[in-house]
Amino acid sequence: MAHTPEHPRTYVCTDCQVVHAGTVTGREAGDHHYEAPAECGACGSNEFVEADNWPHHRE
Ligand SMILES: [Zn+2]
Repeated sequence: MAHTPEHPRTYVCTDCQVVHAGTVTGREAGDHHYEAPAECGACGSNEFVEADNWPHHRE
């Protein structure tokens, strides 16, 4: 159980700009995938941008 920790991806709601932690999908050996939440808990939008891409998205 001592695997290298991974950074969870975070996603920004494009409507209200609340940041959500990505949902982990798939747990194959050492290969976790993150997906945006299905729906924003704050405003109900389903449009997300990865936090890393947010500054570019805003341009
Ligand atoms: Zn939202």
